[in-house]
Amino acid sequence: MNQFSLRNRIAFYYIAVTALLVAVLFFLVYFVVLDTVYTHLDTDLDAETHEIYSSLVVLNDTLIFANPSEWAEREHGKIEVNPTFIQVVDTLGHTIRKSSNLRDISLSLNTKIKDKIYFDNILSGSPVRQLQTSILNPGGKILGFLIIALPLEESEIVIKNLKLVLVITYPIVLIALFFISRLIAGKSISPINKVIITAERITNENLNERIELPRHKDEIHTLTQTINSLLDRLQDVVLREKQFTADASHELRTPLSIIKGTLEVLTRKQRDPQQYVEKINQVISEVDRMSLLVDQLLELARFESGKINPNLIQFDLKSSVQTIYQRLEKAFTNKNLILELTSEEKVFVTADPSMTEIILENILSNSIKYSFQDGTVSVKINREAEQTICEIADYGTGIPENQLPKIFDRFYRVDESRNSQIVGKGLGLAIVKRLADLQNIKLDVQSKVNGGTTFTIIFNS
Ligand code: ADP
Repeated sequence: MNQFSLRNRIAFYYIAVTALLVAVLFFLVYFVVLDTVYTHLDTDLDAETHEIYSSLVVLNDTLIFANPSEWAEREHGKIEVNPTFIQVVDTLGHTIRKSSNLRDISLSLNTKIKDKIYFDNILSGSPVRQLQTSILNPGGKILGFLIIALPLEESEIVIKNLKLVLVITYPIVLIALFFISRLIAGKSISPINKVIITAERITNENLNERIELPRHKDEIHTLTQTINSLLDRLQDVVLREKQFTADASHELRTPLSIIKGTLEVLTRKQRDPQQYVEKINQVISEVDRMSLLVDQLLELARFESGKINPNLIQFDLKSSVQTIYQRLEKAFTNKNLILELTSEEKVFVTADPSMTEIILENILSNSIKYSFQDGTVSVKINREAEQTICEIADYGTGIPENQLPKIFDRFYRVDESRNSQIVGKGLGLAIVKRLADLQNIKLDVQSKVNGGTTFTIIFNS
């Protein structure tokens, strides 16, 4: 299976989104912990400042340490695990007092900054969190600065560890999620694989096989149903094609064997000229039938090839009917039929003129073929709103209602025995239907047995 299969793609998209979300989450965790640690330290620094302030007294702009004992206690800070470094500095930067844990080192001071500030600093190589604030007399004059520092080492270790854990877990979580999502995606699309396997198995030979419908009525169920109904339609087409080929070869073989048989009979012994003429005429009529059939088959193949595009132009439908009538006049006369044409002087339609003539000729010649002797064939052309309707009616044998839907099928003839005297192979209306479809022309047929048949051709212009 290809590297970037649907399954991998789903897992990949999922992981791309998850990677972003997890990164946001990890950053959030990191910054919340960082903020908490610093807030905690700064609160401690504030509490310390408050305590020192309470032990400081300002007298005549001089700082007096009111509670030396407490200060002394503070000086024991050096033995604490987390010592607090305290330093009081005058405005010139000279140290007035500092906690003994500072020994000979001093906390750095920025005399330019008057407000209270918190910042990270380094004290003899170790990180500290430092607070600097000015000491004011009641008049608001700066008398000195108080600097307090707390060791940062432990907090930094906590933050560093957290960072390490997050950085290591990030790819591990993503890799794990990728495989899990790949597994889930694989499971969710496994019914598709079933569809593929069955679909691959179906060939021309076993077109009746269908894909089993999945249990859940989801998208894959719909997909399977769609493929199955596509297979139904395909099978139908293939069966009809097979039937067509069988019918065509049968129809071609029959006259050929009649011709062969007739000629063989003639060659067997000497006959009188009368018999020769009779048999040769039979052969000619079979050849004529075959020639008509071959013409129709070729015509049908041409129109069904999909390579033919109708040349849609405006032309007068009435004069097309008249042209066809002239072509069929002999057939009309032979059966003593009259054509009644009801139409305005000119009725323009937009269609392919030669295709329309083939349609008209086929329907009109059927009307002649299936009319009774001495009858009438009527053609009415009407314009209705946006449509032009052409009705061709005869008063002949008619078609039984249940057979009406089939008459446009290839090689279909109503009651073969009854029609056997009438020339035709059941291809004319199949050609008509194909040409009508190509031009978007609608066809309708109404019929009554022994009452006649009316074909309606509806042009959408
Ligand atoms: P055919 O060449 O046999 O006439 P068509 O495809 O033209 O073939 O017609 C199919 C069948 O429909 C015909 O065999 C005939 O039974 C029936 N049919 C067509 N037109 C008419 C009609 N005007 N009256 C009665 N039957 C008709």
